Amino acid sequence: MENKKTILWFRRDLRVEDSILLSIKAKEVLPIFIFDKAILKSLQKDDKRVDFIFKQIEKLKISLQKIGLELVVFYAEVVDVFVYLKSLGYEEVYASVDYDNYALARDKKVEELLTLHRLNDCYIYEPNEVLKADASAYVVFAPYYKLAKTLYTKEHALKYEFSNSKLSNFENIDKIHEIENQTIILKPFAIASINFKKNSIVYEDSKVKLSRLKDKIASYIERRDYVYEQATSNLSVDLRFGTISIRAILRELIKLKKLGFETEGFFRQLVFRDYYAYLLYHFPILHTKDFRKCINYEFNEDYYNSFITANTGIPIVDAGISELITTGNMHNRVRMIVASFFCKHLLLPWQKGEQFFAKYLMDYDAASNILSWQWSSSTGIDAQPYFRIFNPYSQSKKFDKDANYIKMHLPFLKDIKAKYLHDENFLFNNEIENYPKPIVEHKFASQRFLNSVRK
Ligand code: FAD
Repeated sequence: MENKKTILWFRRDLRVEDSILLSIKAKEVLPIFIFDKAILKSLQKDDKRVDFIFKQIEKLKISLQKIGLELVVFYAEVVDVFVYLKSLGYEEVYASVDYDNYALARDKKVEELLTLHRLNDCYIYEPNEVLKADASAYVVFAPYYKLAKTLYTKEHALKYEFSNSKLSNFENIDKIHEIENQTIILKPFAIASINFKKNSIVYEDSKVKLSRLKDKIASYIERRDYVYEQATSNLSVDLRFGTISIRAILRELIKLKKLGFETEGFFRQLVFRDYYAYLLYHFPILHTKDFRKCINYEFNEDYYNSFITANTGIPIVDAGISELITTGNMHNRVRMIVASFFCKHLLLPWQKGEQFFAKYLMDYDAASNILSWQWSSSTGIDAQPYFRIFNPYSQSKKFDKDANYIKMHLPFLKDIKAKYLHDENFLFNNEIENYPKPIVEHKFASQRFLNSVRK
């Protein structure tokens, strides 16, 4: 039993069930959440994620109260919080891992003040668990996955229970309440107090989503790319904020497998998510730099503006951007089409597209986003071959045959026959009210991209 005064820093693990943080053996713990001022000032005031986090923190606060803990919520620069907590005698901090550059730099500053223990609550594997025989990291998914599957045991899906019967032995909360004029504590606990807006989106409970997995899993591999079907789990946002534990999903897969369901296709996607975090951990250069191929990008501002305002004239691309801006989500297949179009047809640098997604995606995760953009632009470690260029029209014809997805997100196209919305000639040669002609031609743009790849 740890006698030191211990902080449980919730960040990518906003839940009580199956929480590694709450399984820590410590006599006196202080659970905290920090609204990091440095991050918040870079966001728009109607950022949907802030509202989402607020709602999850409200739930977390109540769940923690039920086990005798009071979550203290800060609105501050992270370092200021730990300087303050250190002055109250706290020495140890437990938190879940976070491998992106910003998080690593932030954690380093915290480590200069207190002892920070980083726990893997987000991923299936530890970053050094799946390595080549020479202890280096894999740069190709297939052999990584092969070994990952071999190493997978029921321990990876193990549930963490509260192991501390004295969780409520927590005297400093009174002290904190005493210092009501501490500007770094968020009082009142309301989104308006940090000048952000609520939104009306109702977020589905992660447990409900998990319970529906059994209805989706049988046809997951065949249907997951059909963009109008609800064939995927929608769990990415829950995984991002830890409103569900990765281990709870693994246990569900074990259960479904026992019932005879084919679960490997879905498991593979979860391992993909791990792999991207692993790559960013082992090769931090990927944050910003091309790894394999280098492209002579040309930043054309008109192209960029057409893209971010859903005005490229290519229906599947504009529908994807419209979905992203209005809901904070975008179907995976559409993300692939849109990102490829951005880098290859428009010859815009993937970093700009990555930043644009980062601004809106509810499930934004640096590793998955950066590595997926690098995959799409063919610059990354385990990337799509550069000469493979998605044709957005044949993609939409295949995965949104009746154009239901396109029409849902671009309702002003509802009276145009689906076949025309997948037809480049039609779109070039006909006027559509309130909708531009395509800003590039597929064949021309593809050739321009091939010419721009540095050999
Ligand atoms: P499901 O199909 O139900 O998959 C289950 C889980 O597996 C997902 O929740 C996710 O955690 C993981 N997963 C599935 N596919 C992928 C994948 N290709 N890469 C990594 N993990 C995967 N995912 C993010 O979580 N955050 C991002 O910021 C992100 N940015 C992306 C950017 C681009 C350009 C592309 C092409 C993909 C990106 N993805 C990102 C991956 C993928 O699009 C989403 O994880 C997926 O759409 C989430 O929907 P779902 O939960 O229904 O997935």
